[in-house]
Amino acid sequence: MKNNHNLLEIPNINSRDSKLKSLIYDIDDSLFIKDNYSKKNFEHLCICSGGTTSSCAKNGFTTLDLRKNYSKIHLDRETNFVTIGGGVIMGDLINYLQKHNRSFPIGLSKLPGAGYILTGGVSPLSRTYGLAIDNIESVKGFLGNGTFISLKRNQINPEKQLIWEAIKGAAPFFSIITELELKTIESNPIKVIEGFVNLNELSEIIQLAEQFPKNISLQWIYAQKIYIYVFAELKNNLEDERTEEYLTHLDKFPALEKQFYEGFNKINFFPKELNLFELNANNHSEVISLLGEDLKNHIPSFIKCLNEIMNNKPNNSCYVASQQLGFKTKKLNHGSSFFVHRKSTWKPWIYASWKKNDPQEKEVALDWIYKSWRNLKRFYPNIHLAQLHNHLNSHKEEVTLAFGNRMDELKTLKNIFDPQCILPPL
Ligand SMILES: Cc1cc2nc3c(=O)[nH]c(=O)nc-3n(C[C@H](O)[C@H](O)[C@H](O)COP(=O)(O)OP(=O)(O)OC[C@H]3O[C@@H](n4cnc5c(N)ncnc54)[C@H](O)[C@@H]3O)c2cc1C
Repeated sequence: MKNNHNLLEIPNINSRDSKLKSLIYDIDDSLFIKDNYSKKNFEHLCICSGGTTSSCAKNGFTTLDLRKNYSKIHLDRETNFVTIGGGVIMGDLINYLQKHNRSFPIGLSKLPGAGYILTGGVSPLSRTYGLAIDNIESVKGFLGNGTFISLKRNQINPEKQLIWEAIKGAAPFFSIITELELKTIESNPIKVIEGFVNLNELSEIIQLAEQFPKNISLQWIYAQKIYIYVFAELKNNLEDERTEEYLTHLDKFPALEKQFYEGFNKINFFPKELNLFELNANNHSEVISLLGEDLKNHIPSFIKCLNEIMNNKPNNSCYVASQQLGFKTKKLNHGSSFFVHRKSTWKPWIYASWKKNDPQEKEVALDWIYKSWRNLKRFYPNIHLAQLHNHLNSHKEEVTLAFGNRMDELKTLKNIFDPQCILPPL
C-alpha cells in the first residue's frame, strides 16, 4: 500500500480541505486488514471517484483515490457497450462517447464520477432511458472483505443475485467498483428552454411538466432567483411534432429562451448568473436529496412551502432545486435494484454552505437544511442517497428512507461482505 499525505485536488471543498491519514491509489490485500482502519472505532476507508461529495475524504481517514489507476474508457463498437474505470468522471465519459455519436444519461453536472452511477443516477434523459443503474451491463470490483467480484447481467447465479441488485443503488456500503460496463445511447440533438421565472410561473410550469411526454423533463433551481430548464431530446421523427406542441405551451413565459444543442455533452447547466456557491473555495457545504411523486393538486401548497423555506434561508448560498424523473424510471428495467422508490417523479435537493471555519454558521445552515427537509417531507417523503452523510446526525434516517423495505437485506449484505466495516457504515 502506497502512502501519501497529500491533500486531494477534487471539486468538493469539505473533502479537499481534509487532512488525510493517507492517500492510496491501488487495491491490494493489505487494504482489507482491519488494523489499517480501526484506530478509532468510527474510522473506515473513504472512496474517491469524482470527488464531488463531502464523504470521499475526511480528517484522519484514508482515501482510496480511483481517479489515477481506474480511469480507462473503451467503447465496443459492436455492442455499443462502454467499459469505464471506477474513477471516471461523467464529463469525460460523454465527451468520449460523443466522438462515436453515442451518449449516456449523465446528470446535470459533468463533474461527478462513478458515484453518480452507483447511487442511482438521475438524468434529464432518465424518463426515456432509465436511471444510470438501469444501464449497467456488468461490474468488476472488490467486496469489503477483499473478495474479487465480476458480475454480468443475465449471467448472475442465484447466490450473487442479491449482490447484483444491491450494487445498483447501494454499492458504496459493501463494495469498491473498479470497472463498469454500460449500455450507451445514440447521441441526439437536444432543445433546451431556459431562463428566469417567478414563483407563479414556476407553479404553472410544474403543472405543465407533470403532463410532459417521456422525452421532455423539467429541472429548476431556486437560489437568489428561480431558473428553469426544460430539456427535450429530439429524434427527427413524428415524436418531434408532439414535442413542439408541448413546448409551445412555454411560449407565454417571456423570459424563457430556446437553445439548440447538437449533443448532451455541449450543455452546461447552472449559468454563472445564478451565483451558486457550490465551488467557492472559502465555503463548506452539504446537500440532501429527496424523492416523491407528482404534486398534482398540491402544487399551490408546495409553492407556499417553498416560498417559506426560501424566506428563511440563513445565507445567500442556500438553494432548493429539483429534477424530474418518471416514465422509464418507474419500471424495474433490467431487474430489481436498491433504488426502491420507483414511483418517484421528482427529485428535489436542498443545498447549503457556510464559511469553512465558522462552526456557528455551519450549525445554522445545517439547521436550515433539516427544517426545510421536514417541511418538504409531506410532498417528498423519501431519500435519494446520492451523498453519504455518515458524518452527520441525519445519516440513519436518510439510509432508512432511501432503502425502505430492502434495508434488512442491505444490513445482511453488509454483515456478510463487509464484516469489519472497512467501507462507510450503514
Ligand atoms: C454539481 C452536481 C450536480 C449533480 N447532479 C446530479 C444529477 O443530476 N443526478 C444525480 O443523480 N446526482 C447528481 N449529483 C449527485 C452525485 O451524482 C452524487 O453525489 C455522487 O455520489 C457523486 O459521485 P462522485 O463519484 O463524484 O463522488 P465521490 O465523492 O468521489 O464519491 C461519493 C461516494 O460514492 C462512493 N463511491 C464512488 N465511487 C465508487 C466506486 N467506484 N466504488 C464504490 N463506491 C464508490 C463512495 O462511498 C464515495 O464516498 C450531482 C452532484 C453535483 C456535485
